[in-house]
Amino acid sequence: MENKCQLLGKGLYKDIPEELTLGRIPTISDLDYTTGDAFDKFLLDKILPVSIEDKINFNDLLEIDFQWICRALRIHNYGPYHTTTTIWCEDCGETSSGEYQVDLRRIDCKYLPDKFVNEFSIKRAEFLDFKGDVVLKLPTIQKILNAYKDKQFQSNDGRVNREFARICYMITTIKGKVGMTPIEIKLMIEKEMSSADFMMLRGIITDLADYGLRAGGETKCPVCSSDTAVYMGLSEDRFFRPTLEDLRAWKKDRQSTSA
Ligand SMILES: [Zn+2]
Repeated sequence: MENKCQLLGKGLYKDIPEELTLGRIPTISDLDYTTGDAFDKFLLDKILPVSIEDKINFNDLLEIDFQWICRALRIHNYGPYHTTTTIWCEDCGETSSGEYQVDLRRIDCKYLPDKFVNEFSIKRAEFLDFKGDVVLKLPTIQKILNAYKDKQFQSNDGRVNREFARICYMITTIKGKVGMTPIEIKLMIEKEMSSADFMMLRGIITDLADYGLRAGGETKCPVCSSDTAVYMGLSEDRFFRPTLEDLRAWKKDRQSTSA
């Protein structure tokens, strides 16, 4: 069985090899009971260090590699089949709800280009009024987890504005000022950037930094049988909880390849 996972950001890391060796998820862990925001942190802190054979600092992984490894580890330990509850089809326009078995290998990935350097620059000329360049990086998983729980980005109802937090944690330099904290960046954006320019910034960042596994995978539409209907891929905790049928489908695959 394939147990190597070549990282998307190979070449970008100092202390992480280009390829990691996938091992076993502990037989009994709290993976089954951990949900929501705690889930990624649990994977990062408790599952990856024992399930990946290389001894590295997992916090340093790019977010796109964290997702990439999680899928590889899931397929390695439980097979590629996953039962999902909603399928959207563009061909017939139907949204189907129920239980559908999908194949996690059918989630596409946008790879980083050759000789990729992790730094994007948005020039001031792109903005309507804002007079400064913005430089940003693809974030590490640790940065994103920090961003999503940062109280400075909480609104009155207690919810963190994740999108805004994420942007401020990705930016490294704004108007030539290096070494600003995410809070300082937040304050500068709020004070000096118009709403239209912020939308511009948000859109450009989404375009520029759009790498890694896609949010959805492809599957067969239960209504019209088109093969390009989509399901949500990695956003559910249940992604790591294969059903009995998912495991049986994997078993069947393994028997047919070893026969
Ligand atoms: Zn359809």
